[in-house]
Amino acid sequence: MPELPEIQAHAERLDEDFRGATLQRFEPLSFSVLKTFSPDPASAAGTDVTRVHRRGKYVLIELAPITFVVHLMQGGRLRPDDKQSAKPRGGVARWRFDDGRALLLTEPGTERKAGVWVVDGDPTDQVPLQGLGPDADRITRDEIAERLAANSGRVHGFLRDQHPMAGVGRRLSNEILHRAQLSPFANTKKLTDDEVDRLHAALVALIEESLVFERAQDEMVKSADRPGAVHNRIGEECPVCGDTVRSVEYRRYTVAYCPTCQTGGKVLADNTTSKFLR
Ligand SMILES: [Zn+2]
Repeated sequence: MPELPEIQAHAERLDEDFRGATLQRFEPLSFSVLKTFSPDPASAAGTDVTRVHRRGKYVLIELAPITFVVHLMQGGRLRPDDKQSAKPRGGVARWRFDDGRALLLTEPGTERKAGVWVVDGDPTDQVPLQGLGPDADRITRDEIAERLAANSGRVHGFLRDQHPMAGVGRRLSNEILHRAQLSPFANTKKLTDDEVDRLHAALVALIEESLVFERAQDEMVKSADRPGAVHNRIGEECPVCGDTVRSVEYRRYTVAYCPTCQTGGKVLADNTTSKFLR
């Protein structure tokens, strides 16, 4: 799933291309894509895109007073639609503009989880954005310390949860914890001040580095094509210490880590064989 840096860079590209464009109409192409009943997206026809931006992992296409809040989920893409075919492959929604251009939201396969919410007024305190924690590129060291202490769970899960902090997913969680030299299974409540310092510094550094990489791309690249030390590098050598990158597999995600850098050399049992890590 795309995370803060790739969504941010993508929103910047769309903002550059579509800011000022006048919406002709919004077309849902799949019956499940539109998640709201009111306001009617037709009421945005004839208004201009004031900006395209991001909150958490959502793309916001803002037209005064209506905002389209888009969640790409796993494989969704929001791109200029050059062909504008009647039944675009994987197409779930389309925005047509007066100048003849269009934006197409696609999702591969039959998952159909990507969604569009139409929101009137300030979207930040409405569904689906309400309840999101502060954006991960803005959270301060003390804010994250407070939120870690208020939780009691594994730090990997904390980072992926969008409520204490928004924008981080599986790849960044793996990379941040490796950079901070913290076990993915460390308890958030028990982190020392020094560990919180390292965690916040790693978060800041990885978001910055990822933004530099994403801004240099023309398009959202595949997760496997992003630079990284442990994510998608299982079985390879850790670039820091040379140990073998290990994993704990879950049904929906994989925790990747380096034993020497993160767990005092301990290889964690796979959760399929260990009740302890389930
Ligand atoms: Zn290592």
